[in-house]
Amino acid sequence: MRKSYDIVVIGAGTGGYVAAIRAAQLGKSVAVVERQKALGGTCLIWGCIPTKALLEHAHALKVIQQAKEWGVVIPAGTPVIDMNQVQARKNKVVGGLTKGIEFLFKKNKIDWIKGTARLRGGGAVEIVDGETGTIQAAEIVVATGSSARSVPGIEIDHARIITSDDAIHLAAVPTSLIIMGSGAVGVEFASIFRRFGAEVTIVELLPRLVPNEDEAISAELEKSFKKQGIKVLTGTRVLKAAPGATGVTIDVQTPDGATSALAAELLLVATGRGPVTTGLGAEAVGMRMARGYIMVDNMYRSSVPHISAIGDVIAVDTGAADAPPHPQLAHVSSAEGVLVAERLAGREVRPIDYGHVPGCTYCDPEIGSVGLTEREARARGYDVRIGAFPFGVLGRAKMANETEGFVKIVADAKYDEVLGVHMIGPRSTELVAEAVLALRLESTVEELIRTIHAHPTFAEAVGEAAHAVHGSAIHA
Ligand SMILES: Cc1cc2nc3c(=O)[nH]c(=O)nc-3n(C[C@H](O)[C@H](O)[C@H](O)COP(=O)(O)OP(=O)(O)OC[C@H]3O[C@@H](n4cnc5c(N)ncnc54)[C@H](O)[C@@H]3O)c2cc1C
Repeated sequence: MRKSYDIVVIGAGTGGYVAAIRAAQLGKSVAVVERQKALGGTCLIWGCIPTKALLEHAHALKVIQQAKEWGVVIPAGTPVIDMNQVQARKNKVVGGLTKGIEFLFKKNKIDWIKGTARLRGGGAVEIVDGETGTIQAAEIVVATGSSARSVPGIEIDHARIITSDDAIHLAAVPTSLIIMGSGAVGVEFASIFRRFGAEVTIVELLPRLVPNEDEAISAELEKSFKKQGIKVLTGTRVLKAAPGATGVTIDVQTPDGATSALAAELLLVATGRGPVTTGLGAEAVGMRMARGYIMVDNMYRSSVPHISAIGDVIAVDTGAADAPPHPQLAHVSSAEGVLVAERLAGREVRPIDYGHVPGCTYCDPEIGSVGLTEREARARGYDVRIGAFPFGVLGRAKMANETEGFVKIVADAKYDEVLGVHMIGPRSTELVAEAVLALRLESTVEELIRTIHAHPTFAEAVGEAAHAVHGSAIHA
């Protein structure tokens, strides 16, 4: 182990490993301290990659279940999912990607120090387990990420009451599953396990599913989920959960104040994530914290000189009272990693605009969104114009047998500016890229209309939704 580096990064998630690679590209000597056996953090090991791999299995099963529609004859009866193969394939995908980061570290001459880091002040980083010792850094980047958290009264036992970390490893499909929370993680697991054959119930405290999305998206998802046989209980509070030998019982309170009990084989708690700073020594070296998060400015400088922080572990002090909460997303942490590395290498950098971050939820049907929802745009005083177009009308959607959902554009009547784009339906997590660019370039609706969308594609729904804002949709 070398004794000193230009930059020491703590945590090799999508924030930390990207910061390390960019800094090394710019000529810095870099070490990354990571305590897991593999690189990639939450995204690769427990988050984006394993969940989306499971969703691809669910999609494959869906297509096979529709074999008759496709003129495919399956002689041996009803197709079922083989969880051994599902887990083996998912693990192969995850393993390949984590090894890929190891390769990139070697290529960029980044040292991976295996162990748990603790800040000691004055640029010293102590490795308290694994490859123990102390290294000196001119600059430190903290990227220690987040972990699943529960709510008071609900204790995770990793047997009957589980988190997403457990759910990705299930060796068998549960007969019944209650999911607490309907954010991205909750609805993605609902799609996976419903398709695999479980009875799924979602319990959401707020009045609608995916509460951060535009209200029209929530309504469409609820309609689709109910059609798929997913039970949706919104406005419902989980009061307590009691694990037993064969299942779990939960007490819930519905919006009318009535209480009742629900039972299932498993309860998946998907109520959010909290920062990982235990044992890091952040307070001891004087870092300003807020609710456990490391406070940074819009250049990711913490309150301690020469210590920056990025990713899920931070709260950003933008100075704006109405600033949205810092999104806990892989692509956000990576963008922050690039920015920090470039700043530390003396490059000119600009603050990230969190209003232009795409949100993708890979449930079935998929959701992609960026910018203001209709409600947010109205609350900000815009003279709002809306245009929406259903996927079901498109030839491409009919061919693919994926006809649910729509694209909705929120625009400002005065300058014709696109303020937000919200879509639910086939390929929405891919189609949102065009909308992100439109917002980034401060595009007008007229420019989206004049942008030629290839035929036949799902992307035509974006062009038609833009037409719809001006009352000129061709196919609706
Ligand atoms: C089920 C699930 C699905 C998700 N799906 C998506 C998705 O589809 N798209 C998306 O954009 N985001 C998704 N996310 C969120 C995404 O995974 C996170 O936003 C992202 O991983 C955050 O990256 P990070 O680098 O900040 O932290 P992390 O990825 O959490 O990495 C932090 C790393 O730091 C290490 N560490 C912590 N403390 C120490 C220490 N003291 N010493 C050494 N190492 C330490 C940890 O072991 C970890 O590897 C999902 C999350 C979950 C849970």
